Amino acid sequence: MSKLSLDRIIQSQGFGTRKYCRALIEDGEVVIDGAPHTNYKTSFDTDGLVLTVFGEPWQVRERVYIALHKPANYECSRKPSHHPGVLTLLPEQFTWRDVQPVGRLDHDTTGMLLMSDDGPFIHAQSSPKRHVPKIYQATTQEPVTQALIDELLAGVKLHDEPAPLAALSCVQRGPHQLEIVLEQGKYHQVKRMLAAASNHCLALHRSAIGGLTLEALGIAEGEWCFLDQAQLDLLA
Ligand code: URA
Repeated sequence: MSKLSLDRIIQSQGFGTRKYCRALIEDGEVVIDGAPHTNYKTSFDTDGLVLTVFGEPWQVRERVYIALHKPANYECSRKPSHHPGVLTLLPEQFTWRDVQPVGRLDHDTTGMLLMSDDGPFIHAQSSPKRHVPKIYQATTQEPVTQALIDELLAGVKLHDEPAPLAALSCVQRGPHQLEIVLEQGKYHQVKRMLAAASNHCLALHRSAIGGLTLEALGIAEGEWCFLDQAQLDLLA
């Protein structure tokens, strides 16, 4: 970003319409360097700008890159039908600035979900040409066997896929626990692959995307954090 008038800055951060943002500036709700700044026409350099809005510090960001630790019973869809949407777990400013999930997790899947308002980033991350490994922890109904692992590594045929889909890696983590790494992001892929291999997925958790792990981010279920460039580089 560069120099922008204060009303544009506040609007760009998702605080509401231009009219509303002007009103909240004139009402003294935007504090800069310790004092309310009530002239919405003044321009500021947005690089590194930290404001106080409604008494809370707010770092101005041109685009946001977020990792959410998704709990179960939240939907990734834009128009959730049976459960609340994942956007309800973020500050409402992010809904205004059109933050969206990067890909989808099923409503009952937990774990890492990337979110952003950067259209090209979302597009690039969701492209089928991208082969970033995604690591899942699956709880299976039937015991994990070597035959199951071999089948998933060799590839299983899903009814609407022209070619068999194979896991990049498959490691047994317990009698009913399987760590499965996929580089594609097909609809219900883990559950359908397990079903095609005569098992059933009882619970699913995405623990990592590329080199970015939930453990390293240290966010509990329902929590989220901004991602910096070094963390985004781990998605390459
Ligand atoms: N595979 C699934 O079956 N579900 C998910 O949510 C993600 C991957």
